[in-house]
Amino acid sequence: MASVENTELTDAFDEFYRNYYRNEIGELAQKYPSDQKSLWVDWQDLYRFDPDLADDVRTKPEQMQDYAEEALRLFDLPIDVKLGQAHVRFHNLPESTDIRAIRHEHHGRLIAVTGIVRKATNVRPKVTTAAFECQRCGTLTRIPQVSGDFQEPHECQGCERQGPFRLNMDQSEFVDAQKIRVQESPEGLRGGETPQSIDINIEDDITGEVTAGDHVTVTGVLKLDQQGSEQDQSPMFDVYMDGVDVTIEDEQFEDMDITDEDKKEIVELSNEPDIYDKMVGAIAPSIYGYEKEKLAMIMQLFSGVTKDLPDGSRIRGDLHMLLIGDPGTGKSQMLSYIQNIAPRSVYTSGKGSSSAGLTAAAVRDDFGDGQQWTLEAGALVLADQGIAAVDELDKMAADDRSAMHEALEQQKISVSKAGINATLKSRCSLLGAANPKYGRFDQFEPIGEQIDLEPALISRFDLIFTVTDQPDEEEDANLAEHIIQTNYAGELHTHRQETATSDYTQEEVDNVTDEVAPTIKPELLRKYVAYAKRNCFPTMTEEAKQVIEDFYVDLRLQGTDEDAAVPVTARKLEAMVRLAEASARMRLSDTVEEDDAERATSITRYCMEQIGVDPETGEFDADVVETGTSKSQRDRIQNIRGIIADIEDEYDEGAPIDVVIERAEEVGIDEPKAESEIEKLKQKGEVYEPRTDHLRTT
Ligand code: ADP
Ligand code: MG
Repeated sequence: MASVENTELTDAFDEFYRNYYRNEIGELAQKYPSDQKSLWVDWQDLYRFDPDLADDVRTKPEQMQDYAEEALRLFDLPIDVKLGQAHVRFHNLPESTDIRAIRHEHHGRLIAVTGIVRKATNVRPKVTTAAFECQRCGTLTRIPQVSGDFQEPHECQGCERQGPFRLNMDQSEFVDAQKIRVQESPEGLRGGETPQSIDINIEDDITGEVTAGDHVTVTGVLKLDQQGSEQDQSPMFDVYMDGVDVTIEDEQFEDMDITDEDKKEIVELSNEPDIYDKMVGAIAPSIYGYEKEKLAMIMQLFSGVTKDLPDGSRIRGDLHMLLIGDPGTGKSQMLSYIQNIAPRSVYTSGKGSSSAGLTAAAVRDDFGDGQQWTLEAGALVLADQGIAAVDELDKMAADDRSAMHEALEQQKISVSKAGINATLKSRCSLLGAANPKYGRFDQFEPIGEQIDLEPALISRFDLIFTVTDQPDEEEDANLAEHIIQTNYAGELHTHRQETATSDYTQEEVDNVTDEVAPTIKPELLRKYVAYAKRNCFPTMTEEAKQVIEDFYVDLRLQGTDEDAAVPVTARKLEAMVRLAEASARMRLSDTVEEDDAERATSITRYCMEQIGVDPETGEFDADVVETGTSKSQRDRIQNIRGIIADIEDEYDEGAPIDVVIERAEEVGIDEPKAESEIEKLKQKGEVYEPRTDHLRTT
C-alpha cells in the first residue's frame, strides 16, 4: 500500500462518496467481503462532481486509486464493518481507445478498450505477499510481490543469513488472478485488416466472469513490459493492461452508427422495384455470373428470424451455405468479398491460422504464466452474430469437424478439457467453400460422394451450390469479356491516378468503371443489413406458408412409392422458412409474402437439382446429401452383399471376386461399380477378405 499523505484528496473522495455513493457503500458494507469486494464508481459521476479530480483519475490512476480506497476505508459506515481490502473500480470512461491506436503516451493512464475476448486462462491463485521461513532460525520474512518476477529475500530478518528459506503458504497472501486477451471486434476492421489485441491481467473479484468469445469493454491501466531476457534486455517494450473493470457488452453491432440520413436512404432503396437485382449486383461485381449464389449470399447476410419458442427452445435463423466446386472458379473471391459488406464477419481458411482453429480449443501454451490452460476462441465464436466465411472448409482439422455439428445447429461450442468447462456462443452463419474430394468434379460420379465432409455436417447446410468448370462457348465468351473489362477498368483507373498527364478523361474512366462497380455502395449495404437485422422481424402470410407447404408435399409425394427414395426431409422446410424470411427482410417488409416464399423454394429447388438428385434415376433423393449414399447405391450394395452371401458357402475360401463381379453384371451392375461397392462393404466391415480375392460376409 502506498503511503497516503494527501488528506485533501482523501477528503475530496469522501465528499464525493457522501454525495453520490452513500447507498452503494452501505450495500457494500453489508455484503463485504464474501458477496462483494468492490465499489464500482462510474467515472462520469466523478466528473460531474469534480472534473479535475476525474481527470486526475485518468492521468494518475494508480495513485488516485490509493486515495479513493483510503477514503473508502475511512468512510463513516452505518454498521461496524472494516472495508480493509475493498477495491474501488472506476468504469464508464467517456471514450474507448482503439487497440491499434495505443501509443506510449497512454503509458500509466487509465484507458478503456473494447473488443472480443480471444483467450482467457483459468483463474489461478497468485501470491501477493510471500512469507519466507528461515530454515536456520525460523523467522518469517515477508516480501510483497509487486513486479512480474518472484522476489526472494536477500537475507533473513532475524539471523541476517542468506537462508535457506522455505515458502510458508499459510502465512503468505494470495489473490485470484486471470489473464485475458482482448482482440478488436470484427466490425471495427475494414478490408480484411489483421485484428490486433492486448493482454490484460485481472485480479480478485472480477476474475472468472468472462469467457472467450465475450464482447467486453475493459477499463484499466496501460503498462509497459520490457522485451528480451534478463541478461539480454531489449530497448523495445510490449504493452499490456492491468484491468480495473471488465464489462460484458451486448453483442449487437455496437460500432454501427446509422444516422437519420442513412435511414432515409435505406428506406428509399428498399422501395425500389428492382431491389433484388440491385442487391445481387452489389456482391463481388468483378465475378461474372453466379446470380443464384450471390442471391443466396445476400439472403445469408440478412438471415432468417431466430425464433424463441414458448417451451424455451430456439430455432436458428442463421443460414449456412456451401460452395463446392472446381478450382479457379471464383469461390475464394466471392467469399472474401463478404468482408466488404457484412456488418460483422470473419474470413479464414479451414486450415486455420490459430490453435483454436474454427471452433474453440483449450490449449496449454505460454500465454499465461507458466504453461496454464487457456481457452481460446476460434473463427465461429469470433463471428458470433455475423458471418464466418471459411475457405477450404474440407481441409479443416479433425477436432473442428466434431465440434462443428454442434456449432452449426445448436450454435454453441462446448469445451471440456483440463478443468475448463465452457460453452461459447457461435450464433453465426457459415459461408463455406470447398473443393471436391479429388480436386475437380468427376462428371460420372455422384456429387454426393465427391464432397469430402461427413454427411452429418453437410446436412446442416441450408443451401449447397456446386460449381463446375465446363467449357461452354457462349458462357466462356461472356466470362472472358467480363474479366477483361474489369481489368481494363482497373487499368484506366490506375493510369489516371498514377500518371499526371493521363490522356484519359475522368468521364472515360467513369464510363467503364460504372459497368463493374457495385450497384449499392458497400458502406450503405452494411448499414442496410445492420438496420434490417435490428428492426425487421417478418412473419409469414397464409399464402407464403401455403407455397412452402405445397412445394414440400409435392416433392414428398414422389417418395410415397414403396421402392422410391425419400426425396426431401423436414430439415429443408426450416431452411425454406429462413430463406423466405431473409427475402422479406431484404426489402424491410414486416410480412413474408408469396413472392418471398417462391424465391425461397426456387433457390432450394435449384440447389437440390444440382446435388440432391440421384444421378442414376434422376429423382430427388435426400439421402444423397444426408447420408452420402443414394437409394440406388444402397440397393446395389445390398445386392452385392446378397450375391456374396449366396455363393460364399459354395467355396471353402469364400466367394471369389471374379465370380461375384460376373453375377453382378448379370443383374445389371457394371464392373467398376461392383468393385467400388465391394470396397465400400469392406470399409464398413460388412464383408471381409479371408484370402486374397475371396470374400465373406460378416
Ligand atoms: P477458387 O477459389 O474457386 O479456386 P479463385 O476465387 O481463387 O478460385 O479465382 C481464381 C481467379 O479466377 C480469380 O482471380 C478470379 O477473379 C478469376 N475468376 C474465376 N471465375 C471468375 C468469374 N466467374 N468471373 C470473374 N473472375 C473469375
Ligand atoms: Mg480458392
